[in-house]
Amino acid sequence: MAVNHAPACKQCRREGQKLFLKGERCLTAKCAIDRRNYPPGDHGRGRQKQSEYRVQLREKQKARRYYGVLERQFRVYYEKASRQNGITGENLLRLLECRFDSVLVRLGFAASRRQARQLVRHGHWTINGKRVDIPSFQVKPGDVIAASAGSSAAQVIQDATELTGQVPAWLQADHDALAAKVLRLPERVEISAPVEEQLIVELYSK
Ligand code: SF4
Repeated sequence: MAVNHAPACKQCRREGQKLFLKGERCLTAKCAIDRRNYPPGDHGRGRQKQSEYRVQLREKQKARRYYGVLERQFRVYYEKASRQNGITGENLLRLLECRFDSVLVRLGFAASRRQARQLVRHGHWTINGKRVDIPSFQVKPGDVIAASAGSSAAQVIQDATELTGQVPAWLQADHDALAAKVLRLPERVEISAPVEEQLIVELYSK
């Protein structure tokens, strides 16, 4: 399975904002955005020309990096979103938000999407009683998520819950039992990704 191995902090610096790719470190003064908020590379501090295309491209790259999705997979999400009823940009964000790894972060069961993906791949989570080791698995309303019985990662998961703010209203979490339920699909206002999805639609519609 293809994985994005690019250094996390460089990805945030490229996009000029915190994408919270490293969990706890992102909340500390060690965050690279707080220390060096300019793009990486020799020309990082030079002036960048802001064409319409460049703005749209950066927005797409930001969304990709935020959700940890590679280009080809992201395009597949876009095509699926454009075939669904409703607003394509919102559909796209909803599909990304309902990935299993993203849902674990929203529930507070992982400090970052990278950690969530690792926990899923190593078989530490079940959905509706069955082990699911595919981070991109799409959750749906009614799904019951739980840590695998006797999981050796229980402490890591418990530690992650302590970093969590509020769980969004479309999800229900029991941090003591390490279990959760998907109540419904998220509304756009409930998706806190720092992304202007319309710019991505404009880019792909060219
Ligand atoms: Fe991004 Fe986190 Fe690195 Fe800060 S610490 S630059 S938010 S990955």
